[in-house]
Amino acid sequence: MKSFMVKRYEGLDAYTPGEQPRDMEYVKLNTNESPFPPSPKVLEAITGEEVEKLKLYSDPEGKDLRDAIAAHYGYKRENVLLGNGSDEILAFAFFAFCAGEKCIFPEISYGFYPVYAELVGTDAEKAPLCDDFSIDINDYMNVGKTVIIANPNAPTGMALSRADVEKIVASNKDNVVLIDEAYVDFGGESAVELVHKYDNLIVCQTFSKSRSLAGARLGFAIAHEGLIADMNRIKYSYNPYNINRLTLLAGKASIEDDGYFRKNVQTIIENREYTVRELEKRGFCVLPSSANFVFARKDGKNGEELYLELKKRGVLVRHFKKERIKDFLRITIGTREQMDTLISKLDEII
Ligand code: PMP
Repeated sequence: MKSFMVKRYEGLDAYTPGEQPRDMEYVKLNTNESPFPPSPKVLEAITGEEVEKLKLYSDPEGKDLRDAIAAHYGYKRENVLLGNGSDEILAFAFFAFCAGEKCIFPEISYGFYPVYAELVGTDAEKAPLCDDFSIDINDYMNVGKTVIIANPNAPTGMALSRADVEKIVASNKDNVVLIDEAYVDFGGESAVELVHKYDNLIVCQTFSKSRSLAGARLGFAIAHEGLIADMNRIKYSYNPYNINRLTLLAGKASIEDDGYFRKNVQTIIENREYTVRELEKRGFCVLPSSANFVFARKDGKNGEELYLELKKRGVLVRHFKKERIKDFLRITIGTREQMDTLISKLDEII
């Protein structure tokens, strides 16, 4: 077939999500989902009556959920923007603050950043990580362009301190700094409180990981109301009803059930520490993780082969073909039983 794609997008290298295979039951440790179900309050909120109301559009302003998120983090509704996953928040931000301009993000980070950069036409600088895979904050000081940093970073799991994030934000007063905190609940230091102090900071988070709502697609940004208004202009130029009715209810029930959230996060952290110990006992090098996954490699072992051997045995992890990280596996932290299965399959292989 002749290509009808506009010239500008002919070379667009789209994002590849982690596989969601259906050929067999896998121990699924490849897309950083939670192994636990959403809060029971979420189930209570999705009643038959609410399902019937799907005949009506959702609230384009998402007022109730924005109020609940704002109350949880000590802000006002005007400081909160909802996204269909935090991916959509990132998209709004790239459109609003990067299109036709310049930005910088780490060379090894979330694979969607370069895709959005390409989509909106941004001159994107990719700053290399240090030898130990940490982010060198000096690369982001006073850069005169939009800064995007995942903290904790993915797929390394390594985190910057809040003090270091503040140095970056303070040194770029004339540019937006977006801190993507998709994994912050598992041990990172959130920069949310800095939004009170800096009008150039956007913090974005997600309900996909620590709140077990990946399939509901819900993320949010907290920022100065001016930045939220800018991103809202993009949203209303694109998809005003971006969050469906059931997700609005699920999100509110979830954020109001803090006890359930804390318990699950604590369990994941314990399971992570356990997994790190077991991997290290077997000679793996594991980067220090503040996330719900670990990034690990073993000397003399080929990452892709290890990934395929695990897959054959019913355990799915994530492997990236990128040169510097091609021998690493990114392993999502699941239940203790899932982690024991992973370890026993690794024992079979090595
Ligand atoms: N940021 C980072 C760093 C991620 O790893 C992910 C998950 N793929 C996202 C954002 C987006 O997650 P979601 O759209 O499910 O909120």
